Amino acid sequence: MTAQDDRPDTDARRAELAEALTAVRARVADAARAADRDPAEVGLLAVTKTWPATDVALLTDLGLTAFGENKEQEGAAKAAELATLRPDAPVRWHVVGRLQRNKARSLVRWAHAVDSVDSSRLVDALESAAGKALDAGERADPLEVLLQVSVDADPDRGGAPVDEVPALADRVAGCAHLHLGGVMAVAPQDMAPEEAFATVWEVATRVRAAHPHATTVSAGMSGDLEAAVAHGSTVVRVGTALLGRRWLPSV
Ligand SMILES: *Cc1c(COP(=O)(O)O)cnc(C)c1O
Repeated sequence: MTAQDDRPDTDARRAELAEALTAVRARVADAARAADRDPAEVGLLAVTKTWPATDVALLTDLGLTAFGENKEQEGAAKAAELATLRPDAPVRWHVVGRLQRNKARSLVRWAHAVDSVDSSRLVDALESAAGKALDAGERADPLEVLLQVSVDADPDRGGAPVDEVPALADRVAGCAHLHLGGVMAVAPQDMAPEEAFATVWEVATRVRAAHPHATTVSAGMSGDLEAAVAHGSTVVRVGTALLGRRWLPSV
C-alpha cells in the first residue's frame, strides 16, 4: 500500500475515533456531574489491545496520553512502533492484564505502570526488574503500580482478595523502584457493578489512609463506567467504546 492509498483510510479512522472519543468523554462527564463530581477528576485510559499502533497514533493526535495493553509482547511491539510513528507524543503505557513474573524484566523496558499487581511475588519481581532497568538506563522513573482488587476473590480472574490488599500496599510502598499509585478493579460479571465498585472504593480508602498519595482508583470499562464514576473512580479503562469491537481474542 502506498502512502497515498493509505490516506483516505486514515482519515476515515481518525473521524471514527474522534466521534467515539467525544461520546466516551460525554458519558464520563455526565456520570461525574450526576455524582456531583468534577469531570476533570476522571482520567481516560484507552485500552488498545488487539488494535494497531496506527490507531494509538491517531488517539495521541486527539490528545490521549494513557494507553493500556494486556500482553507484554504485544505491548512492547506497539510501544516501539508508536515511538517511530509519534516520537514526540507524551505517552504512558499501562499493563492491565495478568502478568507472569518472567515477563517483568522485558516489561519494565517499555511500560510506565502495571495496573494489575496482585501478589507479593509479583511485587518482588517488578521491584527487582525495575531496579535493573533503572541501573541500565532503560527507564527513567520508578514503575507505577496499582493493586488489582478481586471483589469476589475468584482466583481465575486475577486480583488480590480484598483483605490482602492493604498488606500488598505496604509491601509496594517499601520498594525503592516502585511507586504505589492506588488500586484497580474489574467488576465481576455476576455482581451488580454498583456493589462491586462500592467495595473497591472501601478498599481504596483503606489503602489511602496508610498511603495518602495513592489516590488512583482505576475502575469502569465500556459497559459499566457510569457505575464506577458514581463510586469514586479516577480512571476509566475504555477499549470497545473507543476503538470498536475486538475481533481477535485478547484475554
Ligand atoms: C480489555 C480491558 C478493558 C477494556 O474493556 P472494554 O470493555 O473493551 O472497554 C479494561 N480493563 C481491562 C483489565 C481489560 O482487560
